[in-house]
Amino acid sequence: MTTVSSRTAAPTEPALTPVREFRDVIGTFATGVTVLTAGEPAHAHGMTANAISSVSLEPRLVLACVSRTSAMITRLGKAGTRFILNILAHDQHELADRFSGRASSRPAIELDPWMGGSRLVGGLAAIACDLDALHDGGDHRIVVGRVVAQRREPKPRRPLIFYRGAYERLLAQPDMPGRTAAVRCGASPPQEKWTRARAVDAARDTSSAPIS
Ligand SMILES: Cc1cc2nc3c(=O)[nH]c(=O)nc-3n(C[C@H](O)[C@H](O)[C@H](O)COP(=O)(O)OP(=O)(O)OC[C@H]3O[C@@H](n4cnc5c(N)ncnc54)[C@H](O)[C@@H]3O)c2cc1C
Repeated sequence: MTTVSSRTAAPTEPALTPVREFRDVIGTFATGVTVLTAGEPAHAHGMTANAISSVSLEPRLVLACVSRTSAMITRLGKAGTRFILNILAHDQHELADRFSGRASSRPAIELDPWMGGSRLVGGLAAIACDLDALHDGGDHRIVVGRVVAQRREPKPRRPLIFYRGAYERLLAQPDMPGRTAAVRCGASPPQEKWTRARAVDAARDTSSAPIS
């Protein structure tokens, strides 16, 4: 017979998780990277976001968690506002930095008019949404978008990955066909500047991989 003790274990975690520690913990959840755009190319506003999720298939809904202090949330404030979720490819980390306001370089930005909004050229895919609902989410707002159109680039490419505060990319493992490994590729945070050079070297090693 199994005996269950009613004694509660002494708490080992602090009652309040410090923000830094929370960021470090949640940062272990690897994500893709998107740039949300609102408005047509001549007046577009873009913002890098990785707090993105698919919500529902019928109807097709997605969500983005957007800071209450961002310029983007002001742009998205009105019901029915069209916005586009641009899913970035591995070589677009400079754009991710640019649209998060932390760019040291000024990469060229190519925005195409699409579905009444702006599609970032060179990405993996784009999803056009109309604002469906805005919910409270602490210091962020949960933006729910109703999908009105979607497109995927015909040539498969690898995604940009954000993991533990740095950009990574997936590389083919030559000894394991069909498998990939993550390699850092961004220049952020600053102490990890070495990672980009390493990714370029690694990419050279796997240049024969079918997916670029
Ligand atoms: C990987 C990553 C993921 C992130 N995920 C999230 C998230 O999920 N939610 C969240 O709230 N924040 C997220 N952020 C932070 C967010 O991207 C920044 O706080 C951003 O600065 C907020 O944008 P803003 O709308 O306030 O506009 P700003 O800070 O004014 O704009 C962002 C930058 O984009 C440039 N820009 C905007 N539009 C254009 C244009 N048309 N042409 C050229 N440049 C333009 C601006 O010049 C500025 O440098 C993330 C940042 C990173 C790096």
